[in-house]
Amino acid sequence: MRLSRYFLPTLKENPTEAQIVSHRLMLRSGMIRQSSAGIYSWLPIGLRVLKKIEQIVREEQNAMECQEVLMPTIQPAELWRQSDRYDDYGPEMLRITDRHGREMLYGPTNEEQITEIFANSIRSYRDLPQMFYHIQWKFRDEIRPRFGVMRGREFLMKDAYSFDLNAQSARKSYNKFFVSYLKTYAKLGLTAIPMAADTGPIGGDMSHEFLILADTGESEIACHKNYLEMDLSGQNINYVDDLQSEVDRCTAEYAASDEKRDKAVEKDLGDDLRIARGIEVGHIFYFGTKYSDKLGATVSGPNGEEITVEMGSYGIGVSRLAGAIIEASHDENGIIWPKEVAPFHVGLINLKVEDHNCQHVCDKTYGNLVRAGTDTLYDDRNLRVGSKFADMDLIGLPWQLIVGPRNLKHGNVELKNRRTGEIEDISLESAMARLTT
Ligand code: ATP
Ligand code: MG
Repeated sequence: MRLSRYFLPTLKENPTEAQIVSHRLMLRSGMIRQSSAGIYSWLPIGLRVLKKIEQIVREEQNAMECQEVLMPTIQPAELWRQSDRYDDYGPEMLRITDRHGREMLYGPTNEEQITEIFANSIRSYRDLPQMFYHIQWKFRDEIRPRFGVMRGREFLMKDAYSFDLNAQSARKSYNKFFVSYLKTYAKLGLTAIPMAADTGPIGGDMSHEFLILADTGESEIACHKNYLEMDLSGQNINYVDDLQSEVDRCTAEYAASDEKRDKAVEKDLGDDLRIARGIEVGHIFYFGTKYSDKLGATVSGPNGEEITVEMGSYGIGVSRLAGAIIEASHDENGIIWPKEVAPFHVGLINLKVEDHNCQHVCDKTYGNLVRAGTDTLYDDRNLRVGSKFADMDLIGLPWQLIVGPRNLKHGNVELKNRRTGEIEDISLESAMARLTT
């Protein structure tokens, strides 16, 4: 992509409405623009990041053999009356009436919808277990939307649902999601700490939130210091292994956020306790037959008996993750994207657009990078070098390939690593070899 033709409305000044660094940087780097409170448009460079996050989430769901579907954003109120959640959900639910006077709502989540689909089509225990996910926009009329996409009203979520014959099998499904979440966050370049979460009336230990540490996180967390060094990547585990022992390993020490914190346990931990702030990037939940009971999701068992299925639901905040990654990875000059989610891999900077040779080499290099399949943003604008560097640092691509007449005399270019800030003076050939493998 040529920057001279690309819609990248960067801002030099910090927008006053943004209180936290990720919100400031998303606005300044031209990723998003606010439409109304808690509702955003994603501009080209922001959408690239969102799609990459979405794709990593999708691939890991597919890897655990969860099946992708796409349910609507608008749901009938009737469905939520059946589960008794229509009134309970309160003012966070955006309620709509269609032209025929039918009550509808913009879905804040999809338990009812998926349970109805299941109940209408799956009849036999032989068809269990089943797992479905979708990646769809949600609306929650949050009382205090803030921090940009971190707490929006409209936001993108991956939500998944499991259906099992009994509690034992439901736990297996739960553990699969648990491990897949560890893998997903690791692939996004993040470490998320699993913490026991409130389970409501069902009790037990079958709900976990996943939080990444960041000073601007909304939750105050307390955890054993081991979590700061533990391998939480789920890397060497696959979905046929003994997942329970992996879950046990990753939840062996104390970790809790906000209302789940236990002062007595924390006192006992003494010097081993760490207090920090965290961002909730995922939440998994086993809730048994709460929805299947009400919506009639049953199957016939081996002896023809009717069995109400056991369910769980599993959410990842896809759009929140864009902000969370920035909170975890930035410096005073801007964003530092992990390569997995970077909007482009390389920023190619032409230092002197009026110089024929420089222009020629840059055009050719751009062509070669594109042909090699390297996502490249080519700054071919006739601008002050300082602004070009500032923009490139701000948008945080992993590599900058800087081409100027002085170095070119020796066939050299500069290759800058955005994360370390290290700049190497190397031949164009070696730079290309590094960027195209
Ligand atoms: P929170 O405690 O942050 O309000 P929640 O517990 O209500 O979130 P869940 O229903 O567990 O949220 O939703 C699953 C995931 O969706 C959350 O872990 C979070 O990452 C994301 N999410 C929830 N609400 C929002 C929001 N208003 N804006 C952006 N992402 C959100
Ligand atoms: Mg939650």
